[in-house]
Amino acid sequence: MDASSETGYRKPLPEMEPEEKPFWESLRQHRMKIQHCEDCGKWCFLPRTMCPHCLSTKLEWKPVSGRGRIFATTTQHHPPSPAFAQDVPYNISLVELDEGVRMITNVIGCPVESIKIGMAVNVVYDDVTEDVTLAKFRPAGV
Ligand SMILES: [Zn+2]
Repeated sequence: MDASSETGYRKPLPEMEPEEKPFWESLRQHRMKIQHCEDCGKWCFLPRTMCPHCLSTKLEWKPVSGRGRIFATTTQHHPPSPAFAQDVPYNISLVELDEGVRMITNVIGCPVESIKIGMAVNVVYDDVTEDVTLAKFRPAGV
């Protein structure tokens, strides 16, 4: 029996590549970390072994603010699988963190119609299983 069946979580879980482990562990600790390049000073996401800006391999995991803005957004009306049938309509957004990296996520905690590009959001941690925590976002100040 895997973790998802023990907790009743039925949606797909992320496939965790070795270079992504520190990211997922930081979410589990509710303190998101992203890779920061020690050579060019830029933040990098998705996790990788080499900086996409300057090709340095000196990437350090550092905590981020968890604050950002919605860069792009859409509403999912049709469940992509039966596991999502209870959730529609739900939001899918591309959030740009204050650090400049963008991540695909869900904005929760407000009506989907109220979610707009440019809206300020803060990370919230969704512990979906004992081992997996997902980063979702909520409108700032809500
Ligand atoms: Zn770099």
